[in-house]
Amino acid sequence: MQCQLSVHDDGDHYGLLTDAGEYGTALWIRWQERAEVDLVVLSDCPVVATGPDGEGCCLFVGHTELHTWEDTLKEVSCPI
Ligand SMILES: [Zn+2]
Ligand SMILES: [Zn+2]
Repeated sequence: MQCQLSVHDDGDHYGLLTDAGEYGTALWIRWQERAEVDLVVLSDCPVVATGPDGEGCCLFVGHTELHTWEDTLKEVSCPI
Protein backbone atom coordinates (compact mmCIF):
# COMPACT_ATOMS: atom_id res chain seq x y z
CA MET A 1 0.00 0.00 0.00
CA GLN A 2 1.41 3.34 -1.05
CA CYS A 3 0.56 6.64 0.58
CA GLN A 4 -1.53 8.86 -1.70
CA LEU A 5 -0.48 12.12 -0.09
CA SER A 6 2.35 14.18 -1.42
CA VAL A 7 5.65 13.70 0.37
CA HIS A 8 5.38 14.54 4.05
CA ASP A 9 7.51 13.92 7.13
CA ASP A 10 4.88 13.42 9.79
CA GLY A 11 1.21 12.74 10.25
CA ASP A 12 -0.88 9.86 9.08
CA HIS A 13 -0.45 8.10 5.78
CA TYR A 14 -3.46 7.30 3.65
CA GLY A 15 -3.94 4.75 0.94
CA LEU A 16 -7.12 4.35 -1.08
CA LEU A 17 -8.65 0.93 -0.64
CA THR A 18 -11.86 1.16 -2.63
CA ASP A 19 -14.28 3.70 -4.00
CA ALA A 20 -17.05 1.15 -4.18
CA GLY A 21 -19.03 2.51 -1.24
CA GLU A 22 -21.58 5.25 -1.03
CA TYR A 23 -21.33 7.93 -3.72
CA GLY A 24 -18.90 10.69 -2.81
CA THR A 25 -17.04 8.60 -0.27
CA ALA A 26 -14.23 6.10 -0.36
CA LEU A 27 -12.71 3.55 1.99
CA TRP A 28 -9.19 4.48 3.04
CA ILE A 29 -6.48 2.73 4.98
CA ARG A 30 -4.86 5.05 7.48
CA TRP A 31 -1.58 4.25 9.15
CA GLN A 32 1.39 5.74 10.92
CA GLU A 33 4.96 4.59 11.25
CA ARG A 34 5.15 1.71 13.71
CA ALA A 35 1.45 1.91 14.52
CA GLU A 36 -1.77 0.11 13.83
CA VAL A 37 -3.66 0.36 10.60
CA ASP A 38 -7.19 1.80 10.55
CA LEU A 39 -9.93 1.57 7.98
CA VAL A 40 -11.83 4.83 7.59
CA VAL A 41 -14.63 5.98 5.31
CA LEU A 42 -13.97 9.51 4.11
CA SER A 43 -15.80 11.90 1.81
CA ASP A 44 -14.10 12.87 -1.41
CA CYS A 45 -12.18 16.14 -1.47
CA PRO A 46 -14.46 18.71 -3.15
CA VAL A 47 -11.70 21.15 -4.08
CA VAL A 48 -11.24 21.48 -7.80
CA ALA A 49 -8.42 23.25 -9.61
CA THR A 50 -9.24 26.64 -11.01
CA GLY A 51 -9.17 27.01 -14.75
CA PRO A 52 -11.10 25.60 -17.67
CA ASP A 53 -10.02 22.02 -17.03
CA GLY A 54 -11.09 22.02 -13.39
CA GLU A 55 -9.15 18.93 -12.48
CA GLY A 56 -10.52 17.20 -9.40
CA CYS A 57 -8.59 16.07 -6.36
CA CYS A 58 -8.17 12.33 -5.73
CA LEU A 59 -7.95 12.69 -1.97
CA PHE A 60 -10.50 13.06 0.82
CA VAL A 61 -12.06 16.08 2.45
CA GLY A 62 -9.82 17.75 5.04
CA HIS A 63 -6.64 16.01 3.96
CA THR A 64 -3.24 17.43 4.80
CA GLU A 65 -0.60 18.21 2.21
CA LEU A 66 -1.32 19.23 -1.35
CA HIS A 67 -4.30 18.46 -3.52
CA THR A 68 -3.30 15.92 -6.12
CA TRP A 69 -3.57 18.50 -8.88
CA GLU A 70 -1.21 20.82 -6.94
CA ASP A 71 1.46 18.19 -6.57
CA THR A 72 3.59 18.52 -9.66
CA LEU A 73 6.53 16.62 -8.23
CA LYS A 74 4.75 13.32 -8.11
CA GLU A 75 2.79 11.99 -11.03
CA VAL A 76 -0.50 11.05 -9.41
CA SER A 77 -3.09 9.20 -11.35
CA CYS A 78 -6.47 8.87 -9.74
CA PRO A 79 -7.20 5.20 -9.16
CA ILE A 80 -10.89 6.05 -9.14
ZN1 LIG B 1 2.16 9.47 3.67
ZN1 LIG C 1 -7.82 17.77 -2.17
